[in-house]
Amino acid sequence: MNDKTPFLDIRHARKSYGSLEVIKDISLTVDRGEIVAIIGPSGSGKSTFLRAINDLDPLTGGEVWLEGTQVNKKLPHRQYEKHINQVRQDIGMVFQHFNLFPHLSVRGNITLAPKMLKGLSDADANKLAEEQLDRVGMLDRIDFMPSQLSGGQKQRVAIARALAMKPKVMLFDEATSALDPELVEEVNQVMKKLASEHMTMIIVTHEMGFAESVCDRVLFMDQGVVVEEGPPSVIFRNPESERTRNFLRKHL
Ligand code: ADP
Ligand code: MG
Repeated sequence: MNDKTPFLDIRHARKSYGSLEVIKDISLTVDRGEIVAIIGPSGSGKSTFLRAINDLDPLTGGEVWLEGTQVNKKLPHRQYEKHINQVRQDIGMVFQHFNLFPHLSVRGNITLAPKMLKGLSDADANKLAEEQLDRVGMLDRIDFMPSQLSGGQKQRVAIARALAMKPKVMLFDEATSALDPELVEEVNQVMKKLASEHMTMIIVTHEMGFAESVCDRVLFMDQGVVVEEGPPSVIFRNPESERTRNFLRKHL
């Protein structure tokens, strides 16, 4: 890798489900520390695109590269499993519905992957869990079960769980969409804190105000393409495309 190697580089991404083409030749390069928002109507392919970045939804065409390593490499099964387990440690993902393991405590949720995938001792994994929970303001809930937490608290634990793997980039897929309105802010605050620490992030969101306040760049997606991209000041205040303007009229 040299200085010119892009941090995260998605080249000519395509994805079809049968005859339905949901990602149509999207290329995106993200710099280290950059924060990119993806906005767009429901069904435009935002989640599919995000999930393709760590190969959860493998692309049908194109390549994803992270720091000079191809994520969606074609490899024999065993080698692929080893490879993808490795690269996914670098790519944290947070979903709309938290996806905490319901039968594990907060501590158990956070220590599981570092123990299993990184071979951390109980003591080291516990220390890591405490650090990451402190980061999201949830240290006092370390021995709670997920069912004892509010939606906002669950999402903060899910973020801490992703951070515990020390990822190079964090992907957020509508992290606040399932929350009651009064719980949105506590999760947004955590994302803002990560932004201030220069975490590289790609954030799919319906919250235009939030996107405008934290993101360096905004992509507007519609029907599987990036219709328009630019700094928030341009996309939200002075978009070029009629499709972007139409969407924003309904969502700003
Ligand atoms: P968004 O996140 O922007 O709402 P999605 O990426 O979820 O959009 O979906 C994009 C399109 O792909 C939609 O038409 C959706 O119905 C379709 N789609 C998503 N996942 C699947 C799947 N597993 N099988 C078939 N079609 C899918
Ligand atoms: Mg989605």
